[in-house]
Amino acid sequence: MMEKYYEADADIGVLKGKRIAVIGYGSQGRGQSLNLKDSGLDVVIGLRKGKSWDAATKDGMKVMTVAEAVKRSDIIQILLPDESQGAVFRAEILPHLTLNKCLMFSHGFNIHFGQITPPSTVDVIMVAPKGPGFMVRRQYEEGKGVPALIAIHQDHSGNAHKIALAYAKGIGATRAVVLETTFREETETDLFGEQAVLCGGITSLIKAGFETLVDAGYAPEMAYLEVLHETKLIVDLIYEGGLTNMRKYVSNTAQYGDLTRGPRVIGEESYIAMQEILEEIQNGTFAREWMLENLVNRPVFNALTAADEDHLIEEVGREVRSLMPQFQKTEGKKPVKLVMKPVAKPAAKKAVKAPAKKK
Ligand code: NDP
Ligand code: MG
Repeated sequence: MMEKYYEADADIGVLKGKRIAVIGYGSQGRGQSLNLKDSGLDVVIGLRKGKSWDAATKDGMKVMTVAEAVKRSDIIQILLPDESQGAVFRAEILPHLTLNKCLMFSHGFNIHFGQITPPSTVDVIMVAPKGPGFMVRRQYEEGKGVPALIAIHQDHSGNAHKIALAYAKGIGATRAVVLETTFREETETDLFGEQAVLCGGITSLIKAGFETLVDAGYAPEMAYLEVLHETKLIVDLIYEGGLTNMRKYVSNTAQYGDLTRGPRVIGEESYIAMQEILEEIQNGTFAREWMLENLVNRPVFNALTAADEDHLIEEVGREVRSLMPQFQKTEGKKPVKLVMKPVAKPAAKKAVKAPAKKK
């Protein structure tokens, strides 16, 4: 079993008298730094001039250039996009990374794949919250926390472990749970999770289901509600109590269909694809591809993103959500113009229902 840590295992005092530079003020940078500050720690933000600089200033943070922030701090948490960390590290961080400083990450990509090679005279650790930055912030404000992973790549000071736990406490993670892993394990599982299941798997599954229904002549709105909208209701039940919990809430018919048809949708071909995807992560093929893609200004990334933005499911989704009050706050004001495609012939009618508790 993995080593687990909670509030009592971490001493935030380890960070008293030390200054933390959070480099970047995006999703993680904002969430983590505001929490650290509210935990009574000395935090500065390292940035270039621009959108994030203005946002951090507006939030009342001490903002300075990356080089200046590194120079003035003992602990440097790099929260830049993974693909730009290497260049910023070499130009603005490394020159000021003097003896006994502590270099931190929230994802192991750059260390594990050798994009950043820190000097041996500093600590290199990871504190990686398992949730987006706004959740890191929101949970903290509610007195809770997002779980985090910690890992030690280099322990020059002999204090790396204590610093990692103290930082995890500072962002609220020990209120949930902190698990200890390695840079390799975090990097490979994180990439695999987002590619095969969380981002890649789910979007492809939803699109495949949507296209199958629409191609068979069903109304796109129906297809949207069935395969995209209801995903959240099912995922919430799985999140709260696992697969068994979800199955307690859906009908017996749904459960039988789930058990017998699911493995046909994700069959042998998908297992083989997942193994190949994992191998590409493990042997560095994916990392090289993504780094090279960035060097040539992301032609594949841009083309595929644009193609999906134009997908019918996105158009239909805007229309359907504009009809539901719970989406008004974020999307209600956007003008939506949509001419529904003529539907061939609705072969069958199916009621849309939320999963109701079984008697
Ligand atoms: P974002 O893209 O949200 O934010 C990046 C920040 O870096 C922005 O403030 C941006 O500022 C700044 N920045 C970009 N380039 C430069 C530069 N050359 N010089 C100075 N500042 C720059 O990143 P994330 O928060 O998503 O990711 C940060 C790290 O956290 C990554 O390692 C990621 O893997 C990890 N992580 C992210 C999670 C998430 O949910 N997003 C979850 C767990 C880990 P500007 O406005 O100037 O562009
Ligand atoms: Mg992840």
